[in-house]
Amino acid sequence: NLSQDNLSVQTTCAYCGVGCGVKATPKGDGTVAVAGDKDHPANLGKLCVKGSALGETVGLEGRLLYPQVRDARGSGSLRRVTWDEALGQVADKWKAVIAEHGPDAVALYVSGQLLTEDYYAANKLMKGYVGSANIDTNSRLCMSSAVAGHKRAFGEDLVPVCYEDLELADMIVLVGSNMAWCHPILFQRIAREREKRPNLKLVVVDPRRTATCELADLHLPVKPGTDVWLFNGLLSYLSRIGAVDPEYLAAHTSGFEAALAAAEVDCADPAAVAKACKISLAALMEFYESFAGTAKVITAFSMGVNQSSAGTDKANSIINCHLIGGRIGKPGMGPFSITGQPNAMGGREVGGLANMLAAHLDLDNCAHRDAVQTFWDSPRMADKPGLKAVDLFEAIEAGRVKAVWIMATNPVVSLPNADQVKRALAKCELVVASDIIQDTDTNAYADVLLPALGWGEKDGTVTNSERRISRQRPFLPAPGEARGDWWIISQFAQRMGYAGFDFAGVHEVFDEHAQLSAWRNSADDLPRVFNIGGLSRMDRSAFDTLAPVQWPVLQHVGVDGGTARLFEDGRYSHPDGKARFIATVPRLPVHPVDEDFPLSLNTGRVRDQWHTMTRTGRSAKLADHVPESFIDMHPQDALIHGVREGELARVTSQWGSMVARVQHGGGIARGGVFIPIHWSGQTSSDARVGGVVNPVVDPVSGEPEFKHTPVRIEQF
Ligand code: SF4
Repeated sequence: NLSQDNLSVQTTCAYCGVGCGVKATPKGDGTVAVAGDKDHPANLGKLCVKGSALGETVGLEGRLLYPQVRDARGSGSLRRVTWDEALGQVADKWKAVIAEHGPDAVALYVSGQLLTEDYYAANKLMKGYVGSANIDTNSRLCMSSAVAGHKRAFGEDLVPVCYEDLELADMIVLVGSNMAWCHPILFQRIAREREKRPNLKLVVVDPRRTATCELADLHLPVKPGTDVWLFNGLLSYLSRIGAVDPEYLAAHTSGFEAALAAAEVDCADPAAVAKACKISLAALMEFYESFAGTAKVITAFSMGVNQSSAGTDKANSIINCHLIGGRIGKPGMGPFSITGQPNAMGGREVGGLANMLAAHLDLDNCAHRDAVQTFWDSPRMADKPGLKAVDLFEAIEAGRVKAVWIMATNPVVSLPNADQVKRALAKCELVVASDIIQDTDTNAYADVLLPALGWGEKDGTVTNSERRISRQRPFLPAPGEARGDWWIISQFAQRMGYAGFDFAGVHEVFDEHAQLSAWRNSADDLPRVFNIGGLSRMDRSAFDTLAPVQWPVLQHVGVDGGTARLFEDGRYSHPDGKARFIATVPRLPVHPVDEDFPLSLNTGRVRDQWHTMTRTGRSAKLADHVPESFIDMHPQDALIHGVREGELARVTSQWGSMVARVQHGGGIARGGVFIPIHWSGQTSSDARVGGVVNPVVDPVSGEPEFKHTPVRIEQF
């Protein structure tokens, strides 16, 4: 879609879940000028430093340009082959594995970097044609606890609010979110609103004193893992002082009494809650009283909530506090899961998680499975949830999964217990990697490398944190023989002998996805809020000019055809139409610190890097902010443990170790260390923090506990 000046292309940023609109202008000298798109509602023309540097990351240096196969397992060299040879070889192996060991012996591990159409084709391939739900995604590491919390509370994975609600709120609570660095454009929207309305109160709940805290009226530096104490205490307090909407409770919710009873076991006494959270009683009461006294409250939560062995309960304890006073479904109020990746929500829409089906339908519901199989006219249908990310790589090492295809992600760096991932891939009979980069920590284990399109080359849609579908449009030619992931999957499916993948273009994949969302989606059949039927039956030209729009989209009338916020009628997706309070019981992280591993490791992002730096690492400007990995810790802890600021130190857990330089000043409290997630093993000292992180996961969502691993530190 060329904009008015007929030179720039309107597309969407490739990084975080804010999903900012970008105008990209390719120049004659091969460079690309990038600016914020004033017409995109998410960012209204602004870009953060990462988005502004997108043009610096599109060069072809280091790109994977041709299909390649390895001559021998392990150390064999890679040989360039044709697409036909590469995909034929993979299809032959998959057929043999499935014939001998069954469909659950193969798997896809995909990514929130995929576009929705890529995700859709991959999910259809695995669940409807291979007949296994062994397709999981790196979004498991990011927001699967929020998904599980939404499904338990609302009956469907639904984000009730929109970005504008942040500007309509009178109080914003940010829980486990360094929004200033990780979702900068959203944070700037809050900051601008605060300049206009100084009374807009900002509370930050975070064990670290992050950059986000600089704008906060109140920072609650809770002990890692104690969020359920905090919000159960709030539920109990709101009930006790009568800050309850009894009509809303009766008409639109169920389970309140049980949730309150559970909360009151440990959290009825604010002093006990303050002690458990290791914050002052005065600060706790300021938060509780402000929440109780403010109608328009947004509680935005992110990785600090989700990446926990109690992540789903944390999400539900937050949602409970909104339901009790009916603070949901109205402008300026509601719980708000802020998604990490550019298309984590698009993946959820098409069932890209191992426990979900397409179009927000349920894998464990026989009627839903039948409906999707009928729509797809597919030969089979997975009938049970597949392996979630951590379990998948354990199953590979155990030999239960024989062939894995990894798309657009780098699990040897990003998964917890990442040395186990190395062992798993070394043992796996066939590792296929689709990527844009030739040499990554993961690709070193690949038997087959498939070149995918990157940002600026690929074509399709993404969905951001406020349910807004936006187009990613190509403005650069496909380099070498790189192809879109949906095309690669479709070609592979045809070599497997599967019908149903003869898409003439990416718009046809989107159209099928949109049609499925509306398929029998009526009140008495398969009702769900997710419905983009209004976007179906678009021809190529309509798809090309699709403006950003928030689902549900029941009628296609342009931008205004979407839906800003959900639950305005008080109706939820559970069969009784009510939201459910979920009884949550506070529990600490699974592995406590002890004498051998006395410090708690917390992991996260830095402002100017993205994931494992395969793209942002190319920008000198971005590297200037933080040039190498680091271990942030309190000066007194450094003294006690015999390490010094500026010197290298080794951090070790039960699962592995890594090396980085010690620094102070990152806002970490006594007893903790913080290490960024971005750096890889391709440095002189292995800086993969994933090798240190424990593999414990939330029992409901399967999301790993990235925010707490017991470690020790020593001089290197
Ligand atoms: Fe890109 Fe996120 Fe920055 Fe927006 S806030 S420009 S989506 S990285």
